[in-house]
Amino acid sequence: MNACILAVGSEMLTPFRVDTNSLTVTEQLNAIGYDVRLKAVVADDADELARVVDGALAWADLIVITGGLGPTEDDVTRDAVARALGTPLDIDERIVDRIKERFARRGLTMAAINRRQAMVPRGATVLENPNGTAPGLWLERGGTAIVILPGPPREMTPMLEAVIRERLAPRTAGAGLFRRVLKITGRSESDVDAHAQPIYGRWLSQPVPISTTILVALGQTELHLTARASNRADADVALDAAVRELQDAFGPAVYSVDGRPLEAVVGALLRERGLTIATAESCTGGLLASRLTDVPGSSDYVERGVVCYSNRAKTELVGVPEPLIAEHGAVSEPVALAMAEGIRSRSGANIGIGITGIAGPGGGTAQKPVGTVVAAVVVEGETRVRTFQFIGPREMVKFQAAQAAMNMLRLMLLKTER
Ligand code: ATP
Ligand code: MG
Repeated sequence: MNACILAVGSEMLTPFRVDTNSLTVTEQLNAIGYDVRLKAVVADDADELARVVDGALAWADLIVITGGLGPTEDDVTRDAVARALGTPLDIDERIVDRIKERFARRGLTMAAINRRQAMVPRGATVLENPNGTAPGLWLERGGTAIVILPGPPREMTPMLEAVIRERLAPRTAGAGLFRRVLKITGRSESDVDAHAQPIYGRWLSQPVPISTTILVALGQTELHLTARASNRADADVALDAAVRELQDAFGPAVYSVDGRPLEAVVGALLRERGLTIATAESCTGGLLASRLTDVPGSSDYVERGVVCYSNRAKTELVGVPEPLIAEHGAVSEPVALAMAEGIRSRSGANIGIGITGIAGPGGGTAQKPVGTVVAAVVVEGETRVRTFQFIGPREMVKFQAAQAAMNMLRLMLLKTER
């Protein structure tokens, strides 16, 4: 089954906006066995879009179009598709009523131009939009299904999921590409590949073949496992076994087998054990606390976080003794430990983390070059401190520092030395 994805919007032909919808659409279509053979960004131009749709009708089993369903003149998707199909547009008064209601609920009256959003190519099925005014459309022509969805991702995604569940998945009878994402931290990409390649190399010739790609992201390496199977159950059996093999090979360096980010994994451990955490951050400027609090429900275990950037702040806010800083320097293991212990005792949390380092680009020395970061973790009396040497610009150093500190905590909670 071949699919074509069209993102409509001239703004995505400028340097300022990028089409992300097609990534979501591709992921979801792959999951039910569609291969995406072509995707394109098309200007807000009815003729251009009609031509592109006409071309795709010749070969695609499915065309997914996002965007250009708004009420203004430059929203041309309805017109263009009707033109490509040679069908007239009719106004659907039920849609008009629904849009009026939506406005009324917010105490507003519908503007006349919104009637455009109720224009429907004859023969189309209307797809409900629970999060916006523009409904989606479903059409069929010859062997090709056409799905039209609004541009804003938060409107598009739930509608896509509904259309896949209700209309598209039944057509592929459960076959598809099934994925697992394993995330590994604390080991280099080449190290991961050297150990993983002999394992995943064998999977290609299995009855349910699994192909593997290694993706390097900041502070972690991801292994993407893709099984092509005629149903989910077969894929699950093969993928579960594959994931177990990698977990056996890499042990606790694998922190996630379900795509969860490190902050979510650490958060789940803290919640399970009923532990609270407080952070004292220098070079990360609060990034660690920010990431920990990205997880819904983190108020259950995040007690507080302070940014103690200056030496004075380290002393005033978390009680790092001035002589300690004078003797060892602000970026040192004794100071990181004093920060972790200081924030822990002052906050009464079970866990304290201290991070201090040189994010760059300035401030490095021969002994402590840019990218030197010290992280300390105190878990109820047990302490661990490590000095890292990260590479990359400022933001990358900050991210890796937060990542490394969370991983130290994770390994301590799992009681594993590394
Ligand atoms: P609306 O009823 O909100 O006007 P629409 O279908 O007309 O919906 P557009 O006007 O084309 O949607 O896009 C609205 C916004 O949605 C854009 O400014 C952009 O932020 C976002 N958007 C549109 N298409 C995409 C895309 N392919 N990827 C990511 N974001 C998109
Ligand atoms: Mg637009």
